[in-house]
Amino acid sequence: MNEFDVYAEADRLAAAYLKSLPNRPAFPSQAAIDALSGLDDHLPEIGETPGEVLARLDALATPATTASGGGRYFGFVIGGALPAAHAADRLALAWDQCASSANNSPAAAMIETVAARHVLEALDLPRDSAVGFGTSATACGLSCLTAGRRALLAEAGWDFDRKGLVGAPIIRFVVPETAHVTVIKALRIMGVGTDHIIRAPCDDQGRIDPARLPEMDALTLLCLQAGEVNTGSFDRFGQLIPSAKRAGAWVHVDGAFGLWARASRSLHHLTDGIEMADSWTTDGHKWLNVPYDSAMAICRHPQALAEAMNSDAAYATADARAQKNLTLEFSRRLRGVSVWAALRSLGRSGLEDMLDRNVRHARRLADGLKAMGLNVLNDGPINQVLARAGDDEATHRLIKTVQAEGTVWFGATLWQERPAFRLSCSNWRTQDADIETALQAIRRALD
Ligand SMILES: *Cc1c(COP(=O)(O)O)cnc(C)c1O
Repeated sequence: MNEFDVYAEADRLAAAYLKSLPNRPAFPSQAAIDALSGLDDHLPEIGETPGEVLARLDALATPATTASGGGRYFGFVIGGALPAAHAADRLALAWDQCASSANNSPAAAMIETVAARHVLEALDLPRDSAVGFGTSATACGLSCLTAGRRALLAEAGWDFDRKGLVGAPIIRFVVPETAHVTVIKALRIMGVGTDHIIRAPCDDQGRIDPARLPEMDALTLLCLQAGEVNTGSFDRFGQLIPSAKRAGAWVHVDGAFGLWARASRSLHHLTDGIEMADSWTTDGHKWLNVPYDSAMAICRHPQALAEAMNSDAAYATADARAQKNLTLEFSRRLRGVSVWAALRSLGRSGLEDMLDRNVRHARRLADGLKAMGLNVLNDGPINQVLARAGDDEATHRLIKTVQAEGTVWFGATLWQERPAFRLSCSNWRTQDADIETALQAIRRALD
């Protein structure tokens, strides 16, 4: 095989895989998982040809993939990949741009500038916000939280870049007690020990209870949620953000998947007031249905994010809008192209249709579970369904039985310290028939 034959072969295998998605088990068989041992060896002395490498991958790994790109996978919050987003990523792979700044790649800089504009338009956030295209909501959350802390310290007259945290005024980080583990991780990386994170009490849907919100001041960073990972619930932004702003706090919103509710007219009200926050994170690789790794750090104070993330060097200067100055990465791939392509191909109406369809699917699932006598725990404002089957033992058994059958896949979680299961409708491929298939699989497992 010459170089181009290898690419053609990869394309052929990729297309065959995508065509097989409707017929694949939602989770690989034990036999396929066992066969992964064929990959488990040491660095070869003599390299294989690219064709051999590709063939090995397809023979051993393809059968053991999770069909999370297909319509019958409801685990975690895992979207699929829209065709335009997938295809654009593949072309960008051939371009192999170092998308750090316009000096490196004018094409990449233009695409990500436009992608940022589309994102702000779709999410109806302040149009002159900075948008950094990072690898994950974890990484983008870290960027926003550290930018927020640095800005609060600057207001207090403290030069964080020079002095760091030694002797600095103490910033109080207030998060919902249901905050996603990656927000806690970001704070740990930033040197905020878990003992010092202030947990705001929440109601039974995982939203901060405004009556029990801890004190805030000009040295407080309040982190809110758009889409709690189990229930999909939204903090009461219209109430919480104005009081935080009056106190002089910085408000960050983790909207890894829920922020996209803003792009649907029927869901937009859930996020009322969110536009008053200082920074937001959201994923592309969840509800927007673009390939991994795709997320966005959005900051209404472009300078604050650009200064915190600045990586200008004598040989690599750029302006505040350069992606290397808005993300953790210095060298980086053209990450925003799949977001650009997804939004171009959907348009406003296609995006809204996809979101509304997933929400309709989640409601149908919730109704079906209730009809079977299961206990649905969330009010289900968007795409998540959280439920239990009788006691803890019955809940475990249901999850295991459905997973073992392989028609559909969803996972276990803990809600208010007791086992539950969670279905997420986040995939553009999921059809009404897949929802009925899921309900039938659950009914079989109960029988
Ligand atoms: C998935 C998720 C995250 C983390 O996102 P990654 O892109 O996986 O790092 C953070 N918050 C919420 C609510 C999530 O659902």
